[in-house]
Amino acid sequence: MRVALLTLFPDVVRQTLSMGVVGRALERGKIDVATFNPRDYTNDNYRTVDDRPFGGGPGMVMLIEPLTRALDAARKLLPDASVVLMSPQGRRFDQAMAINFSQRAQIIFVCGRYEGIDQRFVDAKVDEQVSLGDFVTSGGELPALAMIDAATRLIPGVLHTDQSAIEDSFMDGLLDCPHYTRPPGHSLGDVPSVLLSGNHAEIARWRRQQALGVTWRQRPDLLDCMTLNKPDQQLLDAYIAAHQEKNGVQ
Ligand code: SAH
Repeated sequence: MRVALLTLFPDVVRQTLSMGVVGRALERGKIDVATFNPRDYTNDNYRTVDDRPFGGGPGMVMLIEPLTRALDAARKLLPDASVVLMSPQGRRFDQAMAINFSQRAQIIFVCGRYEGIDQRFVDAKVDEQVSLGDFVTSGGELPALAMIDAATRLIPGVLHTDQSAIEDSFMDGLLDCPHYTRPPGHSLGDVPSVLLSGNHAEIARWRRQQALGVTWRQRPDLLDCMTLNKPDQQLLDAYIAAHQEKNGVQ
């Protein structure tokens, strides 16, 4: 996955991407990131990238020209990239989109600032608009970084074991099961004994049941979109019965 970002804050983007799993992926050449600052593609002494909105109103709007020239430079590096605009008006990002991004060879992310960018640039140059969620951030950098992170950890060989990405929340429509580590006994509680049993089939069954149960409790809307097979339905029914007994529900 080779990505370019059009951003007024390339240092923040680079520094954030240098950490942890994504940083290692960069070092090992699993991903490649370039930044293009529209400010470097201005022609005036003030290096102006924004101006007041026609029609009045608050805030500033990003100018077409510096963005277009920055995009042209990015295109030279990534000629086959689709241009993805960060926007609260876009399609909401989810794990399916992260998988899709992780399988693309080239992507150019456009990070807006201020009130947004001149609509003519959006209409002429942008292929897709993607939103991190139904809220407004002050710029496209954090949403783009979140999306790049989510996509990078899905690239084969990026995580220590590819299995850990497969077992993450949302990968099979369910939330992840709970995790425990040492010590087995603690004043906050004991680790479920099945996890200490060494019985791998039982552990797998317990984890599946917990994933189903946690999803039922925390995100029942996810289960509404799924058809459970019989073994899963039985695991969930048993989880629900135990949960209701514990909580005194008839
Ligand atoms: N006036 C715009 C918001 C501008 S916020 C509107 O209401 O639609 C400034 C920039 O932050 C946007 O151009 C966009 O690039 C980014 N941004 C804000 N919220 C976002 C979100 N939920 N997802 C992705 N990008 C977002």
